[in-house]
Amino acid sequence: MFPRDLFDDSHSLLRRQVAGFLDEEIVGLHRNWSQARYVPRDIWRKAGEAGLLCRSLPAEYGGHGRDFRDSVVIIEELAARRLPGLPTYLQSDIVAPLVQRLGTAAQKQRFLPGLCDGNLLGAMALTEPHSGSDLHAFRSFARRDGDDFVLNGVKTHISNGNSADLIIVAARCDKAILGDQPGFVLLLVKAGRDGISRKAIAKAGMQALDTATITFEDCRVPACNLLGQEGLGFMHLMQSLVAERLVLAVFAQASAETLLRETIAACHARQTSAGTLLDYQHIRFRLADLYSDCSANRAFVDQCITAQLRNRTDPKAACIAKLRCTENLKDIATQALQLRGAAGISEAEGERCVADLVDASVQTIWGGSSEVMRDLIGRGLVNLL
Ligand SMILES: Cc1cc2nc3c(=O)[nH]c(=O)nc-3n(C[C@H](O)[C@H](O)[C@H](O)COP(=O)(O)OP(=O)(O)OC[C@H]3O[C@@H](n4cnc5c(N)ncnc54)[C@H](O)[C@@H]3O)c2cc1C
Repeated sequence: MFPRDLFDDSHSLLRRQVAGFLDEEIVGLHRNWSQARYVPRDIWRKAGEAGLLCRSLPAEYGGHGRDFRDSVVIIEELAARRLPGLPTYLQSDIVAPLVQRLGTAAQKQRFLPGLCDGNLLGAMALTEPHSGSDLHAFRSFARRDGDDFVLNGVKTHISNGNSADLIIVAARCDKAILGDQPGFVLLLVKAGRDGISRKAIAKAGMQALDTATITFEDCRVPACNLLGQEGLGFMHLMQSLVAERLVLAVFAQASAETLLRETIAACHARQTSAGTLLDYQHIRFRLADLYSDCSANRAFVDQCITAQLRNRTDPKAACIAKLRCTENLKDIATQALQLRGAAGISEAEGERCVADLVDASVQTIWGGSSEVMRDLIGRGLVNLL
């Protein structure tokens, strides 16, 4: 890819430290986690100790007072090593910033230090069995009862869902905001409460990533755990989804660059009567298209990261970044398998190619599918006239 001017020496140092930690502590174990579909809880404390969590949070809560670029470095190093089992970005860039932005002073004191040092593992529970893309169709309901909310509903495909200690749950509530339409709440739910049951989900891709269905049955959540304003949860969520889409674009872009580099190397290594696969014009053209898209995406994502540093991420730009980077990743993963011939589905190399393709498919679905991204982008087009 082309040189980037986003980072300084402090980021190079961080990159080396993160790479060292991942290579020594995580890479060797990750395969076992994929097979066992389980990530030991203690690894999150180690990640906290190694400074991989919540780097942009203020030092008073245990953060590092840095900016989003540190997260970008960490996400890129995780993606380059294919380590979906340790989604630090969920903790650092989605859950903790939401608590920091919307939380009361007491909530921040209570939850942020643990999220920073890994003693608390966070999760974000939006998706329900009958409504993933359609957030308006939520059925989970939080009824106000004295000093508590009583939460009922089912959330599914929740990352960190089985082992999380703190789950941010989005649910409908009694409080109407527009006419008589029920509003939403975001609740900070401690996982040990009565009325919560969890069940791991077996997946074909990203097997090391802990995903679960979480059921809430008359689960009492103290009203002091309301995050943000009662009734306005949906609006709070929309702001958080913009950051989430950018984070997922960064992750997909780094994965795409890794896969593309490996695919070019595999084509270069494959001998033919013409020389190597790269001596076939058709293959060079195909790789050139992928490389061109990937390079353009890199420039666009870096521009979005720069905007994010100024808190000026355009919601549409985040959708474009998520759409383009994840779709390019899926195209590259498809070609990575195809251009290896039978080796693309055989032995260890083939196993990795198939896993890459399935994992790439996850990325065009989670955090808002490509169809939903296109829909959101398309809705704003009339404003261009
Ligand atoms: C590994 C993994 C981790 C996840 N982690 C989390 C998490 O931590 N928290 C969480 O809340 N959720 C999580 N999810 C859920 C994820 O966000 C949803 O899967 C996603 O939003 C899609 O919802 P769905 O699966 O219900 O599909 P559906 O919404 O049922 O969609 C099915 C198909 O219809 C298409 N479609 C839907 N609506 C439209 C439309 N308006 N126009 C055109 N096409 C449409 C979709 O693109 C898709 O192709 C995770 C999912 C995965 C796979």
